[in-house]
Formats: sequence, C-alpha cells, structure tokens
Amino acid sequence: MPDTMQALVVREPSRFEIAEVPIPVPGPHEVLARVRAVSICGTDAHLIHGDYPGFWPPAFPFIPGHEWSGEIAALGPGADLYGWKVGDRVAGTSHDACGVCQKCVEGRYNLCENYGKQGLHRQYGHNTQGADATYVVHGVKCIFPLPDGLSFEDGAVVDPASIALHVANRGGVQPGDTVAITGAGAIGLLGGDAARIRGAARVIVVGRGHRLAKAAALGFETVDSTAGDPVAVVHEMTAGLGADVVLECAGVPETVVWALGMLRRGGRCAVVGIPTVGVEIAMQRLVLDELELVGSRASAGEMRRVMPLVEQGRMRVREMITHRFALADYADALATFNDRASGAIKIIVTP
Ligand SMILES: [Zn+2]
Ligand SMILES: [Zn+2]
Repeated sequence: MPDTMQALVVREPSRFEIAEVPIPVPGPHEVLARVRAVSICGTDAHLIHGDYPGFWPPAFPFIPGHEWSGEIAALGPGADLYGWKVGDRVAGTSHDACGVCQKCVEGRYNLCENYGKQGLHRQYGHNTQGADATYVVHGVKCIFPLPDGLSFEDGAVVDPASIALHVANRGGVQPGDTVAITGAGAIGLLGGDAARIRGAARVIVVGRGHRLAKAAALGFETVDSTAGDPVAVVHEMTAGLGADVVLECAGVPETVVWALGMLRRGGRCAVVGIPTVGVEIAMQRLVLDELELVGSRASAGEMRRVMPLVEQGRMRVREMITHRFALADYADALATFNDRASGAIKIIVTP
C-alpha cells in the first residue's frame, strides 16, 4: 500500500483542491476503507461554502464526504472481533457516537450527549476527515455490510436512505395515512418511499422544477409550489381535511409554515430540513388542533434496516443518481449539484 492518497482538501470556504495527503491509520476498533463511491449531500455544499463556521468543520483545511461505500483495506486493533475482514464491502454513515451517555444507551446515538468531544464522539465528514478521498478511516459503529445485490453506487446513497426512513419513523406514519412531503430533493423523494414502506396510502410531494417532475415519474402525487398556494391545494386534494403526516424535507421557513398548514387535525409533522433562521409558527392552531411537531436528525439504527429495502427496490436509491464524476473533477461535480437547472438529485463521485 502507498503512503499517500488523493483527497478533496478544502483550504478555506469555497477554496478547495485535489491534493496528495497521507493515508490515515486505523486506530482501535476502526477500519481503513478504500472508498469506491461518494454521494454529494446538501450538507457538503454548505460545509464547503463555509455556512457552519467553527462547527462543521471545526477548522480548515478539511476533507468532507459522509455518504459513501467501499471495501475494507486494513483493520485496526480489535476490528476483527466484530467479524470484519479485509475485502469486505461496506456502506458508511457519519455519526460515531460515544456509546455510553444516556441517549446512546437508549439507542438515540444521533443525539449523543458527548457530541464533538475529543476522544468520545466523531462525525465523519463533519468534524473528522470524511470520504472524499481514496481512503477513509471509520469506527466499526459507522460501517455496515453492503449486500451483494447492491453496487457501490447504491451503497453511497444508503446513508440518505436511512435518514429518509428515520424521518418517516419520527413522523409515525401509519398504514392508510395520507402523507405530504415538502421538498423534492433526495431526502424528500426517498422519504416518499419510506412513507409507503410504513404503509402510507397516499404520498403527495410538494416541490418545483426538475425535482417535482422526478417525484411524478416515481409515481407520487405532486403539487407545484410555484402554481398557487400549496397548502390550499393539499387541502383540496384531501377533501378539506389535510395530511395525517407531513415530512418537512426542504428546510426553509416558508416550507415549515406550509408543512404545519397542510396537517390534518391531530396530525404530526417531522422536520428534517434545517432552516438557518428562525421560523414563526401558528401556535394557536398547534394547540387547538393538537398538532405534533418533531425534529428528525440523521438516523439512529436505520442503516441496517434500510439495506434490504434498498435491495428489494422499495427504497429507490438508484433512481436518485443523476450524475457521475471522478474525484479529480469535484469542482464540476459541485457546480452541477448547486445548479438547479442541471436536474441533479444525487451525484456520485468516484475516488
Ligand atoms: Zn448527507
Ligand atoms: Zn453518547
């Protein structure tokens, strides 16, 4: 094995290059993986742009990337105890939590109370080196066996699929429910599949442009948010009642307000999009109609559960992939991702 590898190194906000850097060494209960496919996430674009100063990443230079698949190239001490072998195909996720705090022992490791504390918690591609590189080190908590039926490209979209399943779980979708989804990006569209998996009778996607056309092509009912008041349209489509569950997957103040407005009495809204500013919500309606509003962060236990659903074609990750680039062409890949007119949903980068 060589000593150095290629990596996407972000030197400062919006200034990055493909550079030769040392290959990281796996520590106890970690593996070194040869990355075969990485998917660009909205969070990557924000992070590279410097939208989360001092947090994601804590400092520059930084190597992003957290939706990936590959194969194990070397084992750190103890990784073999979990059954891992060199050559195993894996899909990765980002939260490497402490495993000891109260939230971790309850299984809610996405809410680890030791978040970001040195030596206790890591989030790959956010506060620790990510997968936009030839090799990446991950703790064994963050790698999952990739079934033979899934390609490396599929494997790079398993992490967002797990996040989509988590938001449908947080929304408590019940068999027969009408589910509305605000936002037709990858999480919104995969969220539609997750709602169906949980038994939704109807899935209505609210969005615009190429992405909304994709939602229609995937067989969801659609509402064009640029063609009138989407809240009124969803009420019309549901005999004036509204949706039992809304999954808010866009993360802007306007869509959060829409999401609550679309809810049926006693309905529940799960929010996975992260607005960067405060949102004024109609508290009177929330109280008088007993609406429920819950947050949904990353995933917690859904990586393994979503894998067979991807294999069965019920969680359609392959349909999300619109573009492919080599890691060396990351600048073009990111520009395509940020260009709404490109029709990009998921872009695969190959190191
Ligand atoms: Zn992501
Ligand atoms: Zn913890």
